[in-house]
Amino acid sequence: MKYLFGPVNSRRLGLSLGIDLLPAKICNFSCVYCEVGPNSIFTCERREYTPTREITAEIDSFLAAPGQAKPIDVFTITASGEPTLHSGLGEIISHLKAKTALPVAVLTNGSLLYRADVRQELALADIVIPSLDAAREESFRKINRPAQGVNLQEIIKGLTLFARDFKGELWLEILFCKGINDSAEDIAALRQALLAIKPAKIQLNTVARPPLEDFAKPLSEAELAEIRRQLPGTVEIIADFRKRKRAPAGSAKKTELLEMLRRRPCTETDICEALNLDSNSTARLLQELTASGEIAHSAHMGKIYYQTSQTA
Ligand code: SF4
Repeated sequence: MKYLFGPVNSRRLGLSLGIDLLPAKICNFSCVYCEVGPNSIFTCERREYTPTREITAEIDSFLAAPGQAKPIDVFTITASGEPTLHSGLGEIISHLKAKTALPVAVLTNGSLLYRADVRQELALADIVIPSLDAAREESFRKINRPAQGVNLQEIIKGLTLFARDFKGELWLEILFCKGINDSAEDIAALRQALLAIKPAKIQLNTVARPPLEDFAKPLSEAELAEIRRQLPGTVEIIADFRKRKRAPAGSAKKTELLEMLRRRPCTETDICEALNLDSNSTARLLQELTASGEIAHSAHMGKIYYQTSQTA
């Protein structure tokens, strides 16, 4: 599959079939914590980067295969960069809604929500998960490093307008990096923005996988808990501090693993859980792929991360 990947076990969404709308990392941000890597194209231009019809055709062939969609909990539209930059987004969500009763989730950096057309298209989804890492201009520029023309106040206004009219679930994610967007002023500004936006849920995260910039450091669980206390509404910590359930055993799936590692670096535990593989077959497969040079690994914060050799 070229555009569909997984299914992967997502902590937030359940068993999720991913749909990647972009052919490379195309984004209007260059976040210091980005786990995808540097941008191939750094742009605010919205266009059809991959043929919408090819994506909908791949969705159709997935759904046509007997029993394929049965275990899936959700379709998740995402991208190697920012999915709302793809102008076929609305058509793809409509297509999914017409062809299946499964919910559709979209992950976005939220930057194009100032546009009425993007808000209308995202309103077709069931769950929208935008990010808002900072509500102060200085911190926003430091952490997200947006392309020229991106305006923080317009983003907050767009999120507020979208949240007001959206009939589905809006979960707003904030990722904190130590010393960049976690000052008392930052939390106070985020609090004001969140009081206006009123998302159904606020999800706090921090750096876990190898970030684009080495200086992007995580907050501790206690620091996130303190921030949680200061923010309004339903706030949860989604950063990976918790003990996670052991994945059930399964057989090794090389293609799915390579697809997953092409998108982001993962630990052996991530792989077990996302692909439902037992630890022995995962370890064997990782050894084989490392020996053949298809993947490489590196250490970050005391953990070993695997990724495909092109992006290693
Ligand atoms: S984290 Fe998301 S929004 Fe930020 S640079 Fe990476 S792909 Fe773009």
